[in-house]
Amino acid sequence: MSHFWSPLVHGLTPYTPGEQPKLINLVKLNTNENPYPPSPKAVTAMRNELGSDGATLRLYPDPNADLLKQSVAELFSKNGITPAHVFVGNGSDEVLAHVFMALLKHDKPVLLPDITYSFYPVYCGLHGVKSVSIPLDEQFAIRVDDYAMENGGIIIANPNAPTGHLLPLGEIERLAAAHPGSVVVIDEAYIDFGGKSAISLVGRFRNLLVVRTLSKSHSLAGLRVGFAVGDPLLIEGLERIKNSFNSYPLDRLAIVGAAAALADIEYFETTRHAVMNSRAVLVAELKALEFDVLPSAANFIFTRHPKHDAGTLATNLRERSIIVRHFRLPRIEQHLRITIGTDQECAALIAALKDILIGIQ
Ligand SMILES: *Cc1c(COP(=O)(O)O)cnc(C)c1O
Repeated sequence: MSHFWSPLVHGLTPYTPGEQPKLINLVKLNTNENPYPPSPKAVTAMRNELGSDGATLRLYPDPNADLLKQSVAELFSKNGITPAHVFVGNGSDEVLAHVFMALLKHDKPVLLPDITYSFYPVYCGLHGVKSVSIPLDEQFAIRVDDYAMENGGIIIANPNAPTGHLLPLGEIERLAAAHPGSVVVIDEAYIDFGGKSAISLVGRFRNLLVVRTLSKSHSLAGLRVGFAVGDPLLIEGLERIKNSFNSYPLDRLAIVGAAAALADIEYFETTRHAVMNSRAVLVAELKALEFDVLPSAANFIFTRHPKHDAGTLATNLRERSIIVRHFRLPRIEQHLRITIGTDQECAALIAALKDILIGIQ
């Protein structure tokens, strides 16, 4: 605490990111990164942008990142998406921060699930947005009918984090249709690992905003690129905030790298299917060890063992150089969130768990 801090700073409870340890030879299954490298075309595009002497970095990047907006629009052109429907930012975390300020801060409270991406309540605190948390049902699923109340906006992650639970597109449609007077934000950070995107609904619902990231399904967590797709008026609101905050959130390498990654559909299909196949194998192996595993449409699974404490399991895994995520939060303190790694990493996890379970018994 310092008296130099503003009253706002005194009142903040910041987000705690998953650990990024400096150790090597770690099986890192704690922050839902993709185990595969990004598209080689993305790497080449960034090398070309840099050139031999890096002289392009003297110059500011395009403040509107038009090249990237065009790539996103092209990807969803069959849904009628144009660059005017696209907002881009420095990771979807930044996009979400602007969404709270631009579209969710009203007199009425924002509705969000009680168990969801823990950055949402942090943004509520930062921007002074009132919120009401709506409990997930007993199966850890979002029930759209539970959101039938007055609100200043709704935000959900689909698939949800850290549960991996997917709402079918029809339910998202029902949610958007039921709240025509407020913005409904769908955070699709994990949609490429098993769901159907609500971007196909954007043309029909002017209140629907879909937020995406290249961190997970495009293996670019280190580049920091996210985007939102919605009606041009929602996008204009976001642009007004962005241009009052930082005109150049995406650097030159990020713009060309992200555009090339999005265009490399073949690589994207190969890697996301590899992750989904590894997930199926891992789930079966965990179930054979008597773990309860929630159905997941994401690149992680949410699991508990009926006989073993989650915190103890996480500590024991860590001693074997495997890190997973354990949240000490109500309702989920007996669960572990485990990122899908390569088949080799998943095998190392299973071998370690077998060893641990024998030792504890
Ligand atoms: C990872 C994640 C994000 C943040 O992604 P970045 O683009 O890396 O900032 C946003 N929402 C959810 C639900 C996530 O899991």
